[in-house]
Amino acid sequence: MSTTDPAPPVPALPTQDVDRSDPDRRGWLKEAVRKVRAESGRSADTHLLAFPLPEEWGVDLYLKDESTHPTGSLKHRLARSLFLHALCNGWIRQGRPVIEASSGSTAVSEAYFAKLIGVPFIAVMPRTTSSEKTRLIEFHGGTCHLVDDPRTVYEVSARLAAESGGHFMDQFTYAERATDWRGNNNIAESVYQQLAGERYPEPAWIVATAGTGGTSATFARYIRYMQYDTRVCVPDPENSCFFDGWTRGDPEATSDCGSRIEGIGRPRMEPSFVPAAVDRMMKVPDAASVAAVRQLDRVLGRRAGGSTGTGLWSSLRIVARMLAAGEQGSVVTLLCDPGERYLDKYYADSWLARQGLDIAPYTRTLERFLASGEWVEPH
Ligand SMILES: *Cc1c(COP(=O)(O)O)cnc(C)c1O
Repeated sequence: MSTTDPAPPVPALPTQDVDRSDPDRRGWLKEAVRKVRAESGRSADTHLLAFPLPEEWGVDLYLKDESTHPTGSLKHRLARSLFLHALCNGWIRQGRPVIEASSGSTAVSEAYFAKLIGVPFIAVMPRTTSSEKTRLIEFHGGTCHLVDDPRTVYEVSARLAAESGGHFMDQFTYAERATDWRGNNNIAESVYQQLAGERYPEPAWIVATAGTGGTSATFARYIRYMQYDTRVCVPDPENSCFFDGWTRGDPEATSDCGSRIEGIGRPRMEPSFVPAAVDRMMKVPDAASVAAVRQLDRVLGRRAGGSTGTGLWSSLRIVARMLAAGEQGSVVTLLCDPGERYLDKYYADSWLARQGLDIAPYTRTLERFLASGEWVEPH
C-alpha cells in the first residue's frame, strides 16, 4: 500500500445508547413523591407567638412555634425537603435504607418520612442524645446506631450506606440547598406573611440558631431576595466552632467536644452553614440558654428545648440594645422543639449540677430586664 492510496473508510462506531429507565422504579418514585407532597398538603402553618413585652418599649418579640409540626420540631420542614430533593435526584430507592447523621431531631422527622414512603431508616447519633429522641425514632420505625465520639457520625453514616446500598442523606451538606429559599411557603415567607398585620411588619432582626445552618441561610436568602432590611443574627452555644470560624473567617475551625444544647452547635464548619449570609453572631453561655428557656416557660407557659433558650437569650439581649438606643421595631426568633424531650436535662436541676451550670445569674438578668428594661450582663 503506497502512501498516496486513499485511507480506508473508518468503520462506524455502533450507536451507544444506554437506557436505564425502569417503569417499576419510576412508578415507585412517583408514588413516593406523591406521598411526601400530600403530607405537605395536609399540614397547616405553625403559629407566630408574641412574647409579651411592655407596649411602650416600642419593641415587639415573636417566636415562630415550630414545635407544632407532626414530628415536633423545625426539622419536619428540613426532612420533607431532604426527602423530596433526594427522591427527585434518584438517590432514594425502593427497599434500600436511608441513613442520617443527626443529633436527634432530624432523625425523628426523617424516620417519619421514611415510614411514609416505606423505606428502612437508620439514625447515627452521639450516645449523649436524649433518650426521648431515641424512643421517638424507634416509635416511627427507625433504628438508632449510637457512637461514642460525636465527630464520627459522618464517616459511620457513609460506611453504613456503602455497606447496605442505601443512601446517606447528609443533612449537614444538603440542608441549605434542599430548601426552596425564594418562597414556596418556606419558614421565612411564612413569618413575613404572619407579621403583615403587626405594628412592625418587617422585623429589624431574625434570630436563628444553627445546627445545619439551613434555617439561617433560608431566612437570609429570602430577606435579600425580597430586598428587606431585616438582619440575621445566629447565636452559638458553647463547644461549637461556628462563632470562632465565622469571626475569624476560618472554614477549618473545629471544636473537640459535642454541644450540650441539642440540635445546635457543631464541631466543624458544616458545608450547609453559609457564613456570608449571617450578619451577626453571638456566643451564648449554656447556662444562659437554660435560664432563658425556663423563663419562657414562666412567661408563656410553654416548655421548649435548649436551643430555643439560646435564641431567646440572644433576642432579648438585642431587644435590650434596641430599647437603650431608642430604636423601635420587631425581633423574631424560633421555638424549635418541645421541652418534653429534655425533662431530664434542661428541666432537671440534677443535670445542671452534674454539668456544673449555675443559671441563677442569668435568671436574675432576665427577670430584672423584663421588670425594668435594664439589661445587666451577668459575670
Ligand atoms: C436543627 C435544630 C436547630 C437549628 O436549625 P438548622 O436549620 O439546622 O440550623 C435548632 N434547634 C433544634 C432543636 C434543632 O433540631
